Amino acid sequence: MEQRQLRGDARSWLESNVPQPPLPSMDTADGFVAHRKWERALFDAGWGVVSWPKTYGGRGLGIVDWLIFEEEYYRAHAPGRVNQNGLFLLGPTLMSHGTDDQKQRFLPAMARGDEIWCQGWSEPNAGSDMAAIRTRAVRDGDDWVIEGQKTWCSRGAWADWMFGLFRTEPGSERHHGLTMVLLPMSGDGIEVRPIAQMDGETGFAEVFFDGARVPVANTLGEEGQGWNVAMTTAGFERGLLLRPPGRFMATAARLHELFVACGEPSQLRQDVARAVMAARMYRLYVYWTAGRLQRGERIGPESSVNKIVWSEMDIHMHATAMRLLGVAGLAADEWFDPYYFSMAGPIYAGTNEIQRNIIGERVLGLPR
Ligand SMILES: Cc1cc2nc3c(=O)[nH]c(=O)nc-3n(C[C@H](O)[C@H](O)[C@H](O)COP(=O)(O)OP(=O)(O)OC[C@H]3O[C@@H](n4cnc5c(N)ncnc54)[C@H](O)[C@@H]3O)c2cc1C
Repeated sequence: MEQRQLRGDARSWLESNVPQPPLPSMDTADGFVAHRKWERALFDAGWGVVSWPKTYGGRGLGIVDWLIFEEEYYRAHAPGRVNQNGLFLLGPTLMSHGTDDQKQRFLPAMARGDEIWCQGWSEPNAGSDMAAIRTRAVRDGDDWVIEGQKTWCSRGAWADWMFGLFRTEPGSERHHGLTMVLLPMSGDGIEVRPIAQMDGETGFAEVFFDGARVPVANTLGEEGQGWNVAMTTAGFERGLLLRPPGRFMATAARLHELFVACGEPSQLRQDVARAVMAARMYRLYVYWTAGRLQRGERIGPESSVNKIVWSEMDIHMHATAMRLLGVAGLAADEWFDPYYFSMAGPIYAGTNEIQRNIIGERVLGLPR
């Protein structure tokens, strides 16, 4: 009953408040500002972070309530979450590994959209092989001094803060001697260079560090334990938080509407049916996972299965829409832009080849 009420309240608030026309892309300077304002509007209405504790700006609801909210959010075609790396990746990681001071300092400002976060993990020679990270943070008194380069930072061009993974133990190798550090993007010794994407938008950035100083107090988790902290974050990224099923249920519903509007061409019937069934299956799988979490279990390496399923499903749905639309699809922004973005799904959050390696080794127990 309470969940039905929650769904109804979310639906009516979203129906009255989702911006029309849609906001410009959050990977443009204007769009970034507009999306930050939207984050504040969501927060003020109590919808920013429904599952977070009340002390940090949430409603203190459970994971299933959050999934319900997300279904309504995507159903309403509400704007993308410009602070998604903060809210869905760093936020829960801070709750697991942060000190009380760090939680008080960072979570409410994140929830309000006052501080937008980017993720600084990838480097030019450390993408799939993240244990090859070379950017160094060297201890000098109460500061870390950072030297090196990060790349592919989503929204890094305008973000206020970064959660970065750095090599802090000189001479350490692979996943040993890494530390997660929270740092402001505005400090001295940090140069942000936007990377133009194929569509010309410039939210992506590479970030150069030349003696940037960050207080050691901004270390997240134990010094030298950054790999474990990062694996907590990666579990949220690949598992249910970054891509909740509401997103795909809404796309499947729109795809079906498009199919009907196009006269139900029989050669695409199977593809549309497959998309709708895949979205429903993913929804059931995620609710099952949420049930496991509520019982105190952990997701573990199975989150790699999730990641492959949602990224491949997203491509299938959007490619089917493009086939339905034919050449008109090139001018249909509501389908073309997400089609284009769906193709990045098998790359970000760890490529699908890497996820298959993880499933082979850690879920199926196959030899390396
Ligand atoms: C849209 C988007 C947003 C992103 N946002 C961020 C961000 O905010 N912050 C951040 O830090 N990074 C971000 N990334 C970077 C992303 O994490 C990396 O692109 C990804 O980890 C792959 O690394 P790479 O690009 O260096 O490719 P590489 O690691 O060079 O891989 C190239 C190819 O080789 C394959 N390959 C590599 N090693 C193996 C192996 N052992 N077995 C089988 N195949 C292998 C890969 O699967 C891939 O197909 C983003 C990427 C995209 C596309």
